[in-house]
Amino acid sequence: MGYCKEEEEEENQAKCLRVHGPIIVGAGPSGLAVSACLKDNGVPSLILERSDCIASSWQERTYDRLKLHLPKQFCELPLFGFPENFPKYPTKHQFISYLKSYATHFSIEPRFIQVVQCAVFDQRSRLWRVQTQDCEYISRWLIVATGENAEPAIPEIPGIERFQGPVVHTSVYKSGSDFKNQRVLVVGCGNSGMEISLDLCRHHATPHMVVRNTVHILPREMFGFSTFGIAMALLKWLPLRLVDKFLLMVTNFTLGNTDRLGLRRPKTGPLELKNATGKTPVLDVGALSHIKSDKIKVMKGVREITKNGAKFMDGQEREFDSIILATGYKSNVPCWLKSSDFFTEEGMPKTPFPNSWKGENGLYTVGFTRKGLLGTSSDAVKIARDIAADQWRRIKDCKNTCDSPYYPTKIAFTKS
Ligand SMILES: Cc1cc2nc3c(=O)[nH]c(=O)nc-3n(C[C@H](O)[C@H](O)[C@H](O)COP(=O)(O)OP(=O)(O)OC[C@H]3O[C@@H](n4cnc5c(N)ncnc54)[C@H](O)[C@@H]3O)c2cc1C
Repeated sequence: MGYCKEEEEEENQAKCLRVHGPIIVGAGPSGLAVSACLKDNGVPSLILERSDCIASSWQERTYDRLKLHLPKQFCELPLFGFPENFPKYPTKHQFISYLKSYATHFSIEPRFIQVVQCAVFDQRSRLWRVQTQDCEYISRWLIVATGENAEPAIPEIPGIERFQGPVVHTSVYKSGSDFKNQRVLVVGCGNSGMEISLDLCRHHATPHMVVRNTVHILPREMFGFSTFGIAMALLKWLPLRLVDKFLLMVTNFTLGNTDRLGLRRPKTGPLELKNATGKTPVLDVGALSHIKSDKIKVMKGVREITKNGAKFMDGQEREFDSIILATGYKSNVPCWLKSSDFFTEEGMPKTPFPNSWKGENGLYTVGFTRKGLLGTSSDAVKIARDIAADQWRRIKDCKNTCDSPYYPTKIAFTKS
């Protein structure tokens, strides 16, 4: 993509690259979407990606049977839709092929294997300095697109180091075929924990799923329509709590009382909880019927892991061949973004959606809304418009004053 590198210069033997337009960190759906929207507004950009491909979360860290959790109309990126022949819930392979076509369509060419280690705003030059393992990139704008799920979240579980079998996080789980006929402890009961337990059943393994906290399980569809779509439509007319009540009423009717299966519901409704904490309700794709028929066993919290298995909170002890940690992911922004208090310690913007996309000094974030790809699209469009307006304003100012070049040839940095 024509991000117009001005020049590469050797400064104290470190490579330094000035970038016209914004630097985007991360080539997942969010980075691609914002780059496309910028291009549509005539603004070049440069994506830095730590991996060697686009959408590495999808290409490298997802299991084979994954499909989009939400219907396709809620997962399209701006300006370029899914092919018409895609099913209602595209597979991960279809989604990846869509993202590849998206990048090709907008001629997006990220710089791969660039791990952003540090980004600081230099007060003196009013520019962002973005350091990777082999180059410093400099721009007026920095767009954070590293995602809510940048790193696996691995909890401390007493005794886990003693376990003699394999312990893997869902980010490296591909298929239940690797666990054929095994007794598997699945720690976590979110969408991944449920779907992986289901996948294990299909490969004749015996999953024991640890359910420590309360969880909302909803049918993926109600009356032939997606539950998410129904919720979105109702929210246009009704208050959130009423929509929650409706969803739970239908859920109780179709799925029955999940509390009796050891899956206790939170007191707060699913949408209210999602808004308040970001905790996503589980959309059932078949695991629940396997729980009902005891093929997936629900276990209360783990007290400790032993050499050959686990002891549980209710006093039970079982032997296992493998442990899968379906314990989710976390943001990595605090590790590398310095000189900004825009993010919390957990790496999420302090201001919630819809105002989470813009910080100070040319800092932007895309995809940190807890609203999936819909949130990404909304952020990307707003960021592109804002930067385009900023760019034009600067060019106009520059023309008017004649003495304030848009990009200074010599940049004076604050001494660090
Ligand atoms: C299993 C699963 C299923 C999902 N299904 C849906 C769905 O159906 N619908 C929906 O709307 N949402 C869904 N989501 C949520 C969300 O839409 C996806 O996680 C989506 O991939 C988020 O895109 P992103 O670009 O923000 O983050 P990511 O896809 O995580 O991309 C971030 C990129 O940043 C790179 N990166 C991270 N740190 C650095 C660094 N320091 N330097 C350089 N590069 C870096 C990463 O390598 C990665 O390529 C799902 C999430 C998961 C985990």
